[in-house]
Amino acid sequence: MSTYDASPNDARYTVPGRYWHRLDDGRIQCDLCPRDCRLHAGQRGLCFVRAREGDAMVLTSYGRSSGFCIDPIEKKPLNHFLPGTPVLSFGTAGCNLACKFCQNWDISKSREIDRLADAASPERIAEVAQRLGCRSVAFTYNDPVIFLEYAVDVAAACRARGIKSVAVTAGYISAAARPEFYAAMDAANVDLKAFTEDFYHRLCGGHLQPVLDTLVYLKRETQVWFEITTLLIPGHNDGDAEVEALSHWVMEQLGPDVPLHFTAFHPDWKLTDVPHTPPATLTRARDIARRAGLHHVYTGNVHDRDGGSTWCSGCGTRLIGRDWYELDVWNLDARGHCRSCGTPCPGVFEARPGAWGARRQPVHIATA
Ligand code: SF4
Repeated sequence: MSTYDASPNDARYTVPGRYWHRLDDGRIQCDLCPRDCRLHAGQRGLCFVRAREGDAMVLTSYGRSSGFCIDPIEKKPLNHFLPGTPVLSFGTAGCNLACKFCQNWDISKSREIDRLADAASPERIAEVAQRLGCRSVAFTYNDPVIFLEYAVDVAAACRARGIKSVAVTAGYISAAARPEFYAAMDAANVDLKAFTEDFYHRLCGGHLQPVLDTLVYLKRETQVWFEITTLLIPGHNDGDAEVEALSHWVMEQLGPDVPLHFTAFHPDWKLTDVPHTPPATLTRARDIARRAGLHHVYTGNVHDRDGGSTWCSGCGTRLIGRDWYELDVWNLDARGHCRSCGTPCPGVFEARPGAWGARRQPVHIATA
């Protein structure tokens, strides 16, 4: 547990926090994520955006964002959820893990909450997403668990307009908060950062088991469409035995149809002495996972048309051809079944793919 001394909170963006309780020693404990931060007066939790104000927990980043951008849904990455469609993406500040390899560290490690660029109400976000033709809104760049109150309100405003909500998350959330958070979401990409407690402890300052619990919860207790991403970091989590153990766990606990993405690391934040992931490592991991029985295993952050495409588990037809974020083949019928053999492809599909392509378009939410 780590805490920070709180700078004064901006009342415009501060709301009562949920999931906390008082302790006998006068501190209050946050119950939102497994960190269980215990706060004295004037302190913030490790995530920085939740703080003690008076005798209660508050969220200090409600309605503030680090900026909005329209991305392809494949960038989250989600390959089986409305392929080819645009998603309005945003994040806030802070994070509840402390990954030394963070690839969004300028946002997630930000302590300068006052510099968050865009103020945006839930209704405004939903309205802009609809006007710009986005099929979904993604909570991404940093982990939405830490701004749960804001994320679920945005998701509710989006649902009222027929816009889906996507959580890009490390799955580091308490059992108490999971039902509310995931009831608001339609899809998620969950980072499974490695398959050892040692990795989570040394490189993320967290634990593996709560993430596995979240994945099992998603599979057994919800209708949320979810995919898993593992960033392979040379020498840290890319050994054959670890990839094999991870793949067998997914197969046994979640089944063969949950997509698994192995993505390439680039040196960042505090892990700059580790090289880029060679494409051959991703291909090797994909082969191991497929041998374990998983039907939909992808390579990511590289040009690899075979590793980026979706293949029919029944007859081997290329169902969706992909090179990075560009789609070039579509062999699904209107129900999302293989046109060659009729085998259903797991996921959320429409009769036709979207045509957003690989574009990335910044959005100024106040004037959009
Ligand atoms: S959500 Fe933030 S304040 Fe709450 S336990 Fe997690 S890191 Fe600590």
